Amino acid sequence: MSGKDYVEKDYYKVLGVPKDASATEIKKTYRKLAREFHPDANKGDTKAEERFKDISEAYDVLSDEKRRKEYDEARTLFANGGFRSGGPGGTGSYSFDFGDLFNGSQGGGSGGIGDVFGGLFNRGGRQAQPRRGSDVETEVTLSFEEAVDGATVPLRMTSQAPCRLCNGTGAKSGTTPRVCPTCVGSGTVSRGQGAFALSEPCRDCRGRGMIVDDPCTDCHGSGRASSARTMQVRIPAGVQDAQRIRLKGKGAQGERGGQPGDLYVTVHVDPHPVFGRKGDNLTVTVPVTFPEAALGGTIEVPTLNGPSVKLKLPPGSANGLTLRARGKGATRKDGTRGDLLVTVEVVVPQTVTGDALTALEQYREATASDDPRAALFRAAKGA
Ligand SMILES: [Zn+2]
Ligand SMILES: [Zn+2]
Repeated sequence: MSGKDYVEKDYYKVLGVPKDASATEIKKTYRKLAREFHPDANKGDTKAEERFKDISEAYDVLSDEKRRKEYDEARTLFANGGFRSGGPGGTGSYSFDFGDLFNGSQGGGSGGIGDVFGGLFNRGGRQAQPRRGSDVETEVTLSFEEAVDGATVPLRMTSQAPCRLCNGTGAKSGTTPRVCPTCVGSGTVSRGQGAFALSEPCRDCRGRGMIVDDPCTDCHGSGRASSARTMQVRIPAGVQDAQRIRLKGKGAQGERGGQPGDLYVTVHVDPHPVFGRKGDNLTVTVPVTFPEAALGGTIEVPTLNGPSVKLKLPPGSANGLTLRARGKGATRKDGTRGDLLVTVEVVVPQTVTGDALTALEQYREATASDDPRAALFRAAKGA
């Protein structure tokens, strides 16, 4: 059974029953008509045969509570969309008359109607289409260590979901919302005429197209419920401060079988007092003395969450030289680790006294002939 059939065929008219006919009434009428037009009773009468087929088809749909509901919804939707003068995104250069459309569909002879219906369907009729859940944004603050190694953190989120009690219809259980008579379900009303017509949200139904007479006790008719949930979310190793992570399908639930939305987590990373980050590598600045820098030696360097490492400082190391401790950096996606980049900083003592002063004065005398600025002055003169 296609949407086109639902629009083009008026099963109520075929059986000659009102739209609100009860199941018993439909059954009774069908039996009477079926007897009357049964092929056995009308041998050779092709018209009666046609009529019998139509009656059976109509009864198939209207006798099945679920299919009847679908049929009614499809026709309501169609009526809504048709009334909307081209529907959302339409140019508005042509306008439908609701009555014409409906009559046309009842007559069943109008060829374009199924196509129009299909188009409206694809453009997203509110009542029948599954709707993807909305994306949800949230933030999380990680410690420096958590960002480096990855962490599982609890995220508490509130999002709008369809009310569970009424399945999002907003109507008290056992009742259904009715189509707004003012806007005939479109949610908008037109003011003015022709090219000057303006459409504005319908005031009677506040743009929803439906009116709920008995509101759901849980959501008070809104059909929406805010649901709070706490989710354990795995933040992968190696996230950077201000990075936005997308967790597919962890956003708000979809409606009517639609896909859930995505969850976007903006990560804030607390700075570390000692370590910094450069991609997969961690950085640290290590003070060394002048003798260590000049003579070389072994320096001990702290690592993040691990035992310290010893690095060889070559003789004649300049201030700012960077050494590399392999595999002591941040964890990569594949589980391997970056390096720890160790920058040496030669510290100059604020005060020098005693034996150190004597030694330093001796050192100055011993190196008096070395002018560290000689090359600078040669270069400055352009020599
Ligand atoms: Zn309305
Ligand atoms: Zn509800």
